[in-house]
Amino acid sequence: MMSEIKMTPLKQHLIKLIKLHGPIPISSYMTEALTNPKHGYYVTQNPFGVKGDFITAPDVSQMFGELIGLWFADVWLKMNKPQKIFLLELGPGNGSLMKDFMRVLKVLPEFVEAIEIHFVEASPQLIEIQKDKFKNFPCKKYWHETVKSALNATVGAPTYIIANEFFDALPIRQFQKGILGWHERMVGVDKENEDLKTMLAPFAVAEVTLPEGLRDAELHSVIEVSPMAEYLMVEICNHIKTNQGAALIIDYGYTKHRTGETLQGVEDHKYANIYQNPGQADLSAHVNFCKLCEIIEKIDLKPLGPIFQGKFLEYMGIEERVKSLTKSATPEQASDLLKSLSRLVAPDEMGTLFKVIAMVSTADNDADEIEIAGFNDGPL
Ligand code: SAH
Repeated sequence: MMSEIKMTPLKQHLIKLIKLHGPIPISSYMTEALTNPKHGYYVTQNPFGVKGDFITAPDVSQMFGELIGLWFADVWLKMNKPQKIFLLELGPGNGSLMKDFMRVLKVLPEFVEAIEIHFVEASPQLIEIQKDKFKNFPCKKYWHETVKSALNATVGAPTYIIANEFFDALPIRQFQKGILGWHERMVGVDKENEDLKTMLAPFAVAEVTLPEGLRDAELHSVIEVSPMAEYLMVEICNHIKTNQGAALIIDYGYTKHRTGETLQGVEDHKYANIYQNPGQADLSAHVNFCKLCEIIEKIDLKPLGPIFQGKFLEYMGIEERVKSLTKSATPEQASDLLKSLSRLVAPDEMGTLFKVIAMVSTADNDADEIEIAGFNDGPL
């Protein structure tokens, strides 16, 4: 009874559900914890900023969104200035990235005129914040609850897609190596104290569902896969291949298939127990960029990267941007600019943990010959 007093409504609901229907995969648990329409984390909380649970790159500095805006402007110029562009942002959060993106484009009014913006956002609360922030934007703007509905609404013109820290929020499944093979890790109920706990499914899965090179990993190793990330990537690639366009995906993640658990809970800028209070902590997992690039190749497009975020921003001219902003800054602002620069690019901060991938598809599919900014190095 004791734990029931403190239990979140979502936890009560999940315990009831599991008792009735049996343990659920971690992906279902994550979906409920993050996007349950009544109690999900992204539905009930405002995760951003000092008062929230975490700070993302667009809120570290305006330079982040500006340089991304310039990346797409460069692609637009190299695509010979298409007259209409659908600009999709997946998970805009509190809208900082798009605000800085559009501000920097004031130097290229023709590009702004071509843009129609489509946002994919699951949180009604964040949609309100975004609507308020973008109310004076000159472009038409639309909101969608799912990527699928945004892609359906953006057919027939080149589509530019930006996703910063979106893929890490997509549900993952975990498999653990046992003596008889790989077992899915499930969320069940501990009968004694009526709490959520993880357990392994009794039967091993067919190995064909797991990355080939990892099947012989050591006993107790864990593999994570994100069927949702893979599904969305296929949809995005097909869309860009058919309609032309570009996508830029930035997130924390790894660049080779690997074992190891990365699922984490964050609340109030600190690590939190993943299963303690579903709906109160942000849950995320590192993104498998290797898998995303394999999908891009399978759809017959060319992946750019993965490269380190730090390198990408340096190649996009972040140091020059710091210098130019410093000219009109107070000494305090100048010192903040240097701190933000370090936070975004330094290897011991976000610089190497975060990776960037991209793809570009043009009318004559000659993207191979176009030199795309920011990706001066080959893949990691
Ligand atoms: N891109 C922003 C926010 C990152 S947080 C930034 O860099 O600051 C993740 C964002 O994705 C939030 O806006 C969240 O509400 C949204 N989101 C998470 N899962 C989602 C899903 N399954 N469908 C739609 N939006 C989702």
